[in-house]
This record gives sequence, structure tokens and C-alpha cells, in this order.
Amino acid sequence: MPTTVKCPTCRRAVEWSPESLYRPFCSDRCRLIDLGAWLSEKHAIPADAEPGLEGESQPATPPEH
Ligand SMILES: [Zn+2]
Repeated sequence: MPTTVKCPTCRRAVEWSPESLYRPFCSDRCRLIDLGAWLSEKHAIPADAEPGLEGESQPATPPEH
């Protein structure tokens, strides 16, 4: 019975064998996704520093006194 691991990205069962080139990932795609997630965590870019993303700018209604 072959040993299987679960792909950390998509949770698919991956056979732990020399044929599974990307183990513990099921594919190169999942490997890159996980690598990308790791890198974005490592080099966390402050999202609020991004210019031009103020899509939620609501008209400020001043409190009436
Ligand atoms: Zn996968």
C-alpha cells in the first residue's frame, strides 16, 4: 500500500513516490500557490499603502447639531 500525503494547497491525496515530482503537492501549480502564499506572508505588503484603491469612499455626512 503506497503512502499518500495530502496536498497542503488543495487537500488532494498525493502518492508519496518518485513519480510524484511535486510532493507533498499534487502538482506544480499547487506548489507555486503555496510558495506564493508563503512569500506574501514573509514579505507582507501593507495593503493600505496601495494608491488608487479607495473604491469605498462614502460621502461623509456631518452630524447635525
Ligand atoms: Zn494540490
